[in-house]
Amino acid sequence: MTRLPDAAGHFGPYGGRYVPETLIKACGELTRAYQKLRKEKKFCEEVRYYLETYAGRPTALYEARNLAAHFGRGRIFLKREDLLHTGAHKINNTLAQGLLAKRIGKTRIVAETGAGQHGVAAATAACVFGLKCVVYMGAVDIERQALNVYKMKILGAEVRPVTSGSQTLKDATNEAIRDWVGHVEDTHYLLGSVMGPHPYPMMVRDFQSVIGKETRGQILKTAKKLPDYLLACVGGGSNSMGFFFNFLKDRKVRMIGLEAAGEGIASGHHAATMMKGTPGILHGMKSYLLQDKNGQVQLAHSISAGLDYPSVGPEHSYLKDSGRVRYEAITDREALRAFELLTRCEGIMPALESAHAMAYLPKLMPKTKKTDVVVVCLSGRGDKDMATVQQHLKA
Ligand SMILES: *Cc1c(COP(=O)(O)O)cnc(C)c1O
Repeated sequence: MTRLPDAAGHFGPYGGRYVPETLIKACGELTRAYQKLRKEKKFCEEVRYYLETYAGRPTALYEARNLAAHFGRGRIFLKREDLLHTGAHKINNTLAQGLLAKRIGKTRIVAETGAGQHGVAAATAACVFGLKCVVYMGAVDIERQALNVYKMKILGAEVRPVTSGSQTLKDATNEAIRDWVGHVEDTHYLLGSVMGPHPYPMMVRDFQSVIGKETRGQILKTAKKLPDYLLACVGGGSNSMGFFFNFLKDRKVRMIGLEAAGEGIASGHHAATMMKGTPGILHGMKSYLLQDKNGQVQLAHSISAGLDYPSVGPEHSYLKDSGRVRYEAITDREALRAFELLTRCEGIMPALESAHAMAYLPKLMPKTKKTDVVVVCLSGRGDKDMATVQQHLKA
């Protein structure tokens, strides 16, 4: 396999840089700066320092023996990104990009957020590195995610409501890009997933690939073999890409990305970009996209706000077409059942996003052999979802 993306940021036919002229230049400068920093020992050591002493890396790899006993076969391991500061894998990326912003002389970061998880992680990094932080968030999401809005504000970030379009993540991303166009001199756009124009899909993947690197070492030590299956949920695609990346060359490691089927694919209320989308352009990249036949972007639906995005990172689109990664969709109901099962078996409440990855186990485990090793990326913890869970499950 050739190293992807190519110099222009293409993963096969996907990716690229579909942005206005001003940003072509900014993306080019960012690419050059990043290519230089990634090879610089001091920068890499600094990133590692913050990941270890501030965020809480390396995260544990836990063998879920009770859960495996429940299914009656196989070995199940959980990569515990839920144990990180701010509760999910997002801090891996915001700390690294925050450091990068500082190193390239920017004093201000802008970020988009849907549920507010990336907004909180970005605002947190801004505190650590002394950067001004503006977060764009759809007015509808602001209403739905009051607690995270409060957290961002108390962390010192300015939260700007976006009232255009559907007033959700898609529109917030457009506004963040617009802000960057107008302030490229002093501003870094701290994008939250493996999406957007080149170099973001590559750079965010690299920053998140610490998840897979650690997992590889840990599983070789514990199970004395590579995993047979890797499972991760796919919203924009950053926890899954970071988890899968260091195993792509190991042809025997099967990988499955789980996206949100919402109320069911047939209902039309879902975020199953890979199953129901077609290639299109959104937010500066070419990738699978939920759109109608006139090219209008469709609204995505999921019980977990973090999977509620109508497109997906371009490298995932490439991996889908190449067949290297399989993508399946999980309904809200299946995710809730998985939340309940993991909580009862292991005393771990997963984020509803991560519950989508867990929800594939009942489908997979009956097909596994006794010696098979399955590793699930537990991208985040469930604290933020307790109100939603409470509406659906009785204690
Ligand atoms: C944001 C989020 C996701 C989805 O984003 P990816 O870029 O697909 O990883 C998944 N899990 C959690 C806990 C999140 O906060």
